[in-house]
Amino acid sequence: MFFKNISGKVDVKNRLVATVEKGRIPHAQIFLGKEGSGNLAMALAFASYIMCENKKDGDSCGQCNQCSKSHKYIHPDIHFSFPVVKYGDKKREHISSDDFLPKWRQILHSNPYMGTGEWLEHIDADDKLPNINVKECNDIMHKLNMMSYESENKILIMWLPEYLGAEGNRLLKLIEEPTDNTFIILVAENQDLILQTILSRCQLIKIPDFENLEISLYLNEHLNIPTDKALQIANLSDGNINLAINIGKNEASDYSEMLISWLRVAFKSDPVEINKWINTLSNLSKDEQKNFFEYGLHFFRQFNFRNLTKSDLVSLTQKELETATKMASIIDISKSEKIVALLNEAIDCVGRNINVKIMLFADTLAIGEVIRKK
Ligand SMILES: [Zn+2]
Repeated sequence: MFFKNISGKVDVKNRLVATVEKGRIPHAQIFLGKEGSGNLAMALAFASYIMCENKKDGDSCGQCNQCSKSHKYIHPDIHFSFPVVKYGDKKREHISSDDFLPKWRQILHSNPYMGTGEWLEHIDADDKLPNINVKECNDIMHKLNMMSYESENKILIMWLPEYLGAEGNRLLKLIEEPTDNTFIILVAENQDLILQTILSRCQLIKIPDFENLEISLYLNEHLNIPTDKALQIANLSDGNINLAINIGKNEASDYSEMLISWLRVAFKSDPVEINKWINTLSNLSKDEQKNFFEYGLHFFRQFNFRNLTKSDLVSLTQKELETATKMASIIDISKSEKIVALLNEAIDCVGRNINVKIMLFADTLAIGEVIRKK
């Protein structure tokens, strides 16, 4: 990540660059900004800048030996830590961020502005609540106490220290008395949820929201959304570029409308209406059908996460949030999980060339039954 790829925020960039130039990088910092503020992107760009052997014009060069690794998020001296969940057959206490590094790199490449919702979806967390556990803290201490491999510096980027429980206190010594050339960057969204002991020992860097114009330019450039439309979406997104990206993607297809009409048809379970709906879906390409079911999964996972956390900080558009609110009275988490299972089955069927119409008819009736169940 380059600084220049993050729109605006000139003051923050200048301040960070100056600390490097003066050789006064704080040992522990918190990059504090709302979801979609680019706080993580800023940490990534800063880490590359610190490591770069050929810094120019206030940015990393992108070409030197260090950049060739830091820009791919595979630099052995830039360590990552982030909330994860139980995975596979391993016990949760044996799992740490390292188990998820390939997925982490993948999502950083596709959307460095992602929110918790996208991350949990990406790692198939379902309804498991994420955290940063004891093993993670021990791993961090071990990594930062080792010699560096390829640079004189070592950097830890911890995304969402809010998910550190009291275990976070294990890191205090590290934050207070770090070894030379070790820099800790905590990337946080909510100051109130960070352990006070940690907060008080870190330099706070506030990352402002994106301006609407910056967001609309990004949508135009990366999602090919026409300028007018992009600005409309930017206005809806309240400075949250991640939300804008999600709205932008949905605007292109309007899967949201399709999903609602499907649930409505399922609820009624009138065979004629079901057939009509199925014919509409069958007219889409296999890829589009798959995207639609994937969208359904995204919606229900966000829906569950919202019901679990009672927070609106999920990756849903305003319209989807309204739908989610209405649905919450009829569809509880256990019903929603059954729907998620059916959607997974549908994705599987589309991929295996099974007669989609028959499968859809059965799934629609099954979903109707789930929704109507008292
Ligand atoms: Zn470089």
